[in-house]
Amino acid sequence: MTAFSIVPSVPSNASIPNTRRPNTPDRWRQALGRARRGGLQLRQLVGSGAWVATSERDEEAAYMVTEYECDCFAAEFGDPVCKHRAMLRYRLGHLAFEQSVAA
Ligand SMILES: [Zn+2]
Repeated sequence: MTAFSIVPSVPSNASIPNTRRPNTPDRWRQALGRARRGGLQLRQLVGSGAWVATSERDEEAAYMVTEYECDCFAAEFGDPVCKHRAMLRYRLGHLAFEQSVAA
């Protein structure tokens, strides 16, 4: 991680923490690996075609997920990458990884 300088204070919204995390192929690959190790499942709703991903935290819960949005905690805190979106992107063929994702 590169060092960053202190930015002059920004009024009013300065209390919002900078939780921006990088959107990198490596993070997507790691997220997919975590999803697989966690045994997460992806399901498509028959009626609407929407996708849901099971939760690792709560075995009775599922998150509504699209390629760009997810209801999980990581997404809620602004992370562009999460296990659920990684699974969906991989399922849709939009994560072009070789089969070397850690099992
Ligand atoms: Zn998620």
